[in-house]
Amino acid sequence: MELNKRQQQILQIVKDNGPITGEHIADRLKLTRATLRPDLAILTMAGYLDARPRVGYFYTGKTGAQLLTENLNKIFVRDYQSLPVVVNENISVYDAIVSVFLEDVGTLYVVDENSHLVGVLSRKDLLRASIGKQELSALPVNIIMTRMPNITYCEKDDMLIDVAKKLIDKQIDSLPVVKVTDQGLEVTGRITKTNITKAFVALVDGDL
Ligand code: ADP
Repeated sequence: MELNKRQQQILQIVKDNGPITGEHIADRLKLTRATLRPDLAILTMAGYLDARPRVGYFYTGKTGAQLLTENLNKIFVRDYQSLPVVVNENISVYDAIVSVFLEDVGTLYVVDENSHLVGVLSRKDLLRASIGKQELSALPVNIIMTRMPNITYCEKDDMLIDVAKKLIDKQIDSLPVVKVTDQGLEVTGRITKTNITKAFVALVDGDL
């Protein structure tokens, strides 16, 4: 997060004089307490400053890297997930390719008749099937999909950073977000590299 000039001045005053009250910071900058309030709130929320009632503000001494890690650990799958695109395991590869275009996604999640996750279809899975000699409208997706138990998935309360690590580790583009039940996995969302890129940008912009 980029600090503006006034926020940098406040930080310096607190570093040199803390603990110091909001009133005293305002006096030093010849501003009103009300004018400073938003900047103090931002510095406190971002973790640069801490405030104690009746004592005032003090500098936490945390480095940018420590604050970044703390903020990263506060981002969860539920905050950035998208809607999943789900198809039935009996549809044809031809229809799956049509879904990829119509729904504008890179990965389809395949479910059985009880709506439980049974497979994943990526763009390359569909391309691979298309360069063979098979009749695509007669080829069911469950022949070519990556199937359970080899599917890597996550849950809505998992940390986004752990999902990012799994995507890198497994060299895949997305994870289904599931609800685990006794009967199977219900697909409730998806996390793609795009969702993670959005979180990354929000982190830098201080929008979290
Ligand atoms: P692409 O193959 O289009 O580059 P991916 O890198 O996501 O897309 O997929 C690579 C392979 O991994 C494909 O065979 C796909 O079925 C499989 N795959 C994709 N996502 C998952 C997942 N969450 N769990 C297990 N396998 C996956």
